[in-house]
Amino acid sequence: MDKKKRIVIALGGNALGNTLPEQMAAVKITAKAIVDLIEEGCEVVVAHGNGPQVGMINNAMAALSREDANQPNTPLSVCVAMSQAYIGYDLQNALREELINRGITNIPVATMITQIRVDQDDPAFQNPSKPIGHFMTEEQARVAEEKYSYIMKEDSGRGWRRVVASPKPAEIIEIGAIRSLVDSGQLVIACGGGGIPVMRQGNHLKGASAVIDKDFASCLLAEELDADFLIILTAVEKVAINFGKPDETWLDDLSVEEAEKYIGEGHFAPGSMLPKVQAAVKFAGSGEGRTALITLLEKAKDGILGKTGTRIHQ
Ligand code: ADP
Ligand code: MG
Repeated sequence: MDKKKRIVIALGGNALGNTLPEQMAAVKITAKAIVDLIEEGCEVVVAHGNGPQVGMINNAMAALSREDANQPNTPLSVCVAMSQAYIGYDLQNALREELINRGITNIPVATMITQIRVDQDDPAFQNPSKPIGHFMTEEQARVAEEKYSYIMKEDSGRGWRRVVASPKPAEIIEIGAIRSLVDSGQLVIACGGGGIPVMRQGNHLKGASAVIDKDFASCLLAEELDADFLIILTAVEKVAINFGKPDETWLDDLSVEEAEKYIGEGHFAPGSMLPKVQAAVKFAGSGEGRTALITLLEKAKDGILGKTGTRIHQ
């Protein structure tokens, strides 16, 4: 019997929505896309982002500290942990139900709270770049800068958002536990929100004020689990060069070298498409037979069957 293809899926913002009710509705569609792949005979591991959710939790916790002098500010690492549990709960709940609805009763679903070590000398700490929270007008962004000392940036022509440091993931602390669960046939949700960023201090792991990009965290997870595919599911069906320009061209198939050339030419927006293409290049370049795919959530199955999406390979 052929070995099952192991796939690490990275879910983007459109798989989870922007509010509590949106997320509850979105995970139902997301669960269908994931179980489609399981029905195709793939072994799936799920990772996900948390941009809107971690922004929402951070705002809620900041409001709590303003109201109650006994409640100090909540570190961003704790906000990421909260987002992992909350998103993990919704995904775990929806996946379990979708599996049962299709008569699949032998695949347990589990969320692993995941810490990821980052390097305290990572240059990202000096240059915040990762958008979190909701979109704002330029005027609202100026108010947030002044009132909360947030650093605000414009995001791919869609509005203004707060940006935080986004260091590279160096080590998945719970990888052993994740591997055991995956190897025993469980459907695992891990590295949520890019993982909880921690720095090593002797035996202690100290939470870092940062949000790791889920595209890089998923790439590391896929490498560590020796996956065949890294699938980054997002809000576009394919990656484009000259994106948003009259000569925009959608790409089907790219070698690592071609992708690197396009990265060098600045075709991919930092904070949105650039980390996806960089993660795809890193994964595809990390071993023989490893392929990365970037496509729409709803097209995951067509993508794995080679019908759509942008594929990056050696
Ligand atoms: P996610 O939440 O899935 O990580 P992002 O919003 O971070 O999604 O990134 C996906 C977005 O990147 C797309 O919706 C698109 O607007 C933008 N984008 C920027 N550059 C490109 C490009 N060259 N090709 C396709 N999409 C691009
Ligand atoms: Mg993103």
